[in-house]
Formats: sequence, structure tokens, C-alpha cells
Amino acid sequence: MKIEFKFKGIHAVDTAVVLCMDFRFQKETQEFFGKELGINNFDLIAIPGAGQAIIADDDLALKSLAVSNDLHHVKKIIVVHHQDCGAYGGSGKFNGDAMAEESFHKEELQKTKEKINSLYPNLEVTMVFARLTDDSANIEFVIV
Ligand SMILES: [Zn+2]
Repeated sequence: MKIEFKFKGIHAVDTAVVLCMDFRFQKETQEFFGKELGINNFDLIAIPGAGQAIIADDDLALKSLAVSNDLHHVKKIIVVHHQDCGAYGGSGKFNGDAMAEESFHKEELQKTKEKINSLYPNLEVTMVFARLTDDSANIEFVIV
């Protein structure tokens, strides 16, 4: 099978995305980027808990950021956290208190942003939270 390669001679991209590896949010998150933000091409850094790995100085997470910055010359990083994230113990850890869970993730996103800013002050960091709504029938993406 052959599929067209759209980036011959191109080695730079504007955006890197840090998101959780969780299969339940991947396609929808990419749909949000395309439809809402107009971002269709990006480095994808998919790691359990997204920002959690950056805050923890995880080698692979930091190396991935370095490749995006040094090699692909990204200008911005988008960090996405999601509700019911297993890396953080899932929604169960918050005893069904969705507001408390979202507040916690917003704090984690802020810590992640500060960490990225300290490493790469030139990069713009956008934080997104993926919230389950309508009795978990939909995902609502909120820019924090
Ligand atoms: Zn997750």
C-alpha cells in the first residue's frame, strides 16, 4: 500500500501537542484542533497523563519537547488534559465531583505551562481540558 507523503522537503511545523495516550479522546481531540483551532499538522507527544510526565521531568517527555523545539522549530505547544484520566486515578479518585476533578486538572495544566515556559520561554503554551458532558455522550473542549 502506498499513501501520498505530503511533507517532502519540509521539516518544520508550528505546533506540538502534548496529550494523554488514552484511546477514548484521540480522534476527537484531533477533530477539535482541526475544526476549532484550524490546526491540522502538529508533532504529537502522546504520553500517559500528558502534563504529568512533563511536571515529573520524565525523560521521554522532555526529549520529545526538545525535538519539537530544536528540530521542528515549533512556535507553540498545546497541552490537553481530559476527564477520567487513568494516569491520575480516573474520575473515581474525585468521588464523582467533576468540578473538583476539573479544578485539579487546571492546576496541573498550569504547572505544566510553567515548566514548559521555564525550559522554552519562546514558546506559546495553550492549555485545554476535555470535559465529558451530557452523561458522557459528548466531549466538550475548553481552552483554560
Ligand atoms: Zn489520560
